[in-house]
Amino acid sequence: MKRPCVIAPSILSADFTRLGEQIAECEAAGADWIHVDVMDGHFVPNLTMGPFVVEACRRATALPLDVHLMIEHPENLLEAFAKAGASHLTVHVETCPDIVHTLKTIRALGCKAGVTLTPATPAETLREAIPSADLVLVLTVHPGYSGQGFMNEMVPKVEQVRRMLDDAGSAAWLEVDGGISSATMPGVQEAGANAFVAAYAVFKHPAGIAAGIEALRNVGTT
Ligand code: ZN
Repeated sequence: MKRPCVIAPSILSADFTRLGEQIAECEAAGADWIHVDVMDGHFVPNLTMGPFVVEACRRATALPLDVHLMIEHPENLLEAFAKAGASHLTVHVETCPDIVHTLKTIRALGCKAGVTLTPATPAETLREAIPSADLVLVLTVHPGYSGQGFMNEMVPKVEQVRRMLDDAGSAAWLEVDGGISSATMPGVQEAGANAFVAAYAVFKHPAGIAAGIEALRNVGTT
């Protein structure tokens, strides 16, 4: 079954000297969401951006800001990210001792609540969270750096999460993040994903951002 397809460029591969301009280019080219990969140097080895950058993104676009928190103790920063203009806040099950409570807190802040897990964490850990989630993200690389190769072994996990969402009667988005390109997208789309994060494939496309989005869009609609 074909589902509506969301393209969410991740600014992790953007040129930060021209961030506003590049986000505007994504919006003009038909991107649906702007994905922001927040890393804290603890939960994942890399260190990226925080609420200040989200606030700058907010001024650059009217698109939903899809903020992925790869951080320890995300509850300490949920309000700061919501105030900065995040539309979606996605937290890792590994970092939330009471995931249902955390998701409810996110909704109470006026954001869509997302839940995700690293490649090593079994899909079953999401079951309790699904009724409180507006979005479930399956990471298709080990989190930390842009430009990594897609892990084919994550496709069955996407299928499993799709079954869990359908069994629960959930209309949550099923998003994939990591190594998504026009080559890897069809397999995960077939497995049931309907939102696609792409960093390298958009911002490093040899013909530019618009061509990168167009290439993904063509896969998503065929
Ligand atoms: Zn992400």
